[in-house]
Amino acid sequence: MITLRADLHTHTIASGHAYSTIKEMAEMAGEKGLELIAMTDHAPAMPGSCQTLHFSNLRALPRQIRGVTVLRGVELNVLNTQGKLDLPRGLQERLEWRIASLHENVLIPEEGCDYTGLYLALAENPQIDMIGHPDSPDFPFDVETVVPAWAAQGKVVELNEHHAFDISPRNLENARRLMAACARCGALVAVDSDAHTCWSVGEFSRAAALLNEMDFPEKQVLNTSAQRVLDFIHSKKVL
Ligand SMILES: [Zn+2]
Ligand SMILES: [Zn+2]
Repeated sequence: MITLRADLHTHTIASGHAYSTIKEMAEMAGEKGLELIAMTDHAPAMPGSCQTLHFSNLRALPRQIRGVTVLRGVELNVLNTQGKLDLPRGLQERLEWRIASLHENVLIPEEGCDYTGLYLALAENPQIDMIGHPDSPDFPFDVETVVPAWAAQGKVVELNEHHAFDISPRNLENARRLMAACARCGALVAVDSDAHTCWSVGEFSRAAALLNEMDFPEKQVLNTSAQRVLDFIHSKKVL
């Protein structure tokens, strides 16, 4: 059984459509037995979210809140099919956990468009740590081409509880296919809640059960301990 001790995708009130403070998120995470959370509020292109100053001031936060390590992160929006992102590069470089995600209210999906080139561009971007919820049927891509590229560039592939299980059966089908490809080519994955309230932090039991059912190799799951996550980040940069 895979046991998860970190949640690498969470939102606070700073995102504009999430409802808990970082104190509430971290406290609830601790109560649920988590060792670490990444605070990954939406970058500025998401309507109603915080501006660049939020991200440049994250060092004001304590490293730990009630014993839970808090990583200073962001969920970046992909703005175009070349993979352009919505924070200045210098600022992005200083953040500890950078998710890049496609959101249909920022990048409007085009009928018949293939997003393989976009996802390959994200693979090449050294300022991205994790590919967020790449299971959307609105942004199709060639999994057999893209997942090996992510693996080769050390990108973590997300299995997002909310996206895979609460949106449509097609998301779940895509998530399963993605995880199978990750297992085959040795890509690291992280299982996350994408919590928008403190009550959802660390809620990823269905995603964990899916990996268990697939017999997914535990050594390829990043968030089984805080130490593992920190070692991974340290291997790329200094906190
Ligand atoms: Zn997202
Ligand atoms: Zn999110």
